[in-house]
Amino acid sequence: PRDTVDVVVVGSGGAGFSAAVSAHDNGAKVILIEKEPVIGGNAKLAAGGMNAAWTDQQKAKDIKDSPELMYKDTMTGGRDLNDPALVEILSSHSKASVDWMTQMGADLNDVGRMGGASVNRSHRPTGGAGVGAHVVQVLYDNAVKRNIDLRMNTRGIEILKADDGKVKGILVKGMYKGYYWVKADAVVLATGGFAKNNDRVASLDPKLKGFISTNQPGAVGDGLDVAENAGGALKDMQYIQAHPTLSVKGGVMVTEAVRGNGAILVNREGKRFVNEITTRDKASAAILGQTGKSAFLIFDDSVRKSLSKIDKYIGLGVAPSADSLVKLGEMQGIDGKALTETVARYNSLVTSGKDTDFERPNLPRALNEGNYYAIEVTPGVHHTMGGVMIDTKAEVVNAKKQVIPGLYGAGEVTGGVHGANRLGGNAISDIITFGRLAGEEAAKYSKKN
Ligand code: ADP
Repeated sequence: PRDTVDVVVVGSGGAGFSAAVSAHDNGAKVILIEKEPVIGGNAKLAAGGMNAAWTDQQKAKDIKDSPELMYKDTMTGGRDLNDPALVEILSSHSKASVDWMTQMGADLNDVGRMGGASVNRSHRPTGGAGVGAHVVQVLYDNAVKRNIDLRMNTRGIEILKADDGKVKGILVKGMYKGYYWVKADAVVLATGGFAKNNDRVASLDPKLKGFISTNQPGAVGDGLDVAENAGGALKDMQYIQAHPTLSVKGGVMVTEAVRGNGAILVNREGKRFVNEITTRDKASAAILGQTGKSAFLIFDDSVRKSLSKIDKYIGLGVAPSADSLVKLGEMQGIDGKALTETVARYNSLVTSGKDTDFERPNLPRALNEGNYYAIEVTPGVHHTMGGVMIDTKAEVVNAKKQVIPGLYGAGEVTGGVHGANRLGGNAISDIITFGRLAGEEAAKYSKKN
């Protein structure tokens, strides 16, 4: 071998960085490899928030929540097809994960609402900046502080096992060094999902053939093959999530937090057609049912001011604005008169405190301040719920649920946490909690071996 360490982590998204930092802090010598020339994977793109229950940040805002309620929402969102033991970990560790990130320097003080959540539990930086970029930056800074050996442009190819079936390292391919192997007691796979691989997506769910995707180019699923070749079982592969709101112009993903903070969805006829903060599967199906298979996010300056991310969309030119709804309608091909009536009706529902039209559970603010904005949106492939099967110690298991000694998995590469449909805000929560757990378990395992 070219190198000998305790733990190799594959993938530099949130799960990989969490695993690397936690393995290091549990006494392991770590190498973190990333096949792309940039760190952060899809985690870096996450805009919504980090779901967690019973946090100090929620208490400070008088939000009543509990791990039990987060468990229930997550199971319901996943159509009860989630692995209950993994959801139990996700919800009961969520506060500790927020605290862990906060201790490392993260600001997760803003708490907003995402689809399928009974209360506000999506933690994000003050002012509503993108949570993923922030979390990845904090983890990266902490990895650098610990001198963790980070190797870019280095792909994990094959898990190497000893005759007794235990992991003994990984074959990798570096852009300059070529193929070499790293000896290690444990490997953590944190290689993310495959939403960018439309051939694979469409082979599992033909409805999604030709769909655009929100994902970074590396999200093609080669880590799943690495796991399978090592004997790991895959589960729930057919559950692939479309994110309901990609801007038609430019393909930019518009975070669910825009709706959570008050935007409504209307069709070309100027009418609302769905509870805007329902789960992603339902919102996507509803949008595809409208004329032109797209819809418009409509909001005003009060929503814009509540979420700094919105200024990014305006800067990218995907959120045209006008000082009246009629003008906005003319610009965007929406029936302006109907739109004016719809917004007036919606504002009266906000005043009454109850959405008797679509039973939207949160009505944060009326839309009547300053300019109006419209972002045309359509669903795009966003998250792959299925993946490698793991147990409650993040150990990869085979089809008979037997552990593959020394192989761990965390984050989007795994299946089971989200069932048939992931709730917004649960990805960052998943990758921090399970990344940290996988790193800790891998470090402990390597001490014994
Ligand atoms: P998660 O959200 O689960 O942390 P991400 O998508 O954020 O997942 O990150 C996964 C990272 O793993 C991406 O940066 C991706 O480029 C990288 N990756 C995927 N496959 C491999 C591989 N075979 N070897 C090394 N890195 C990989």
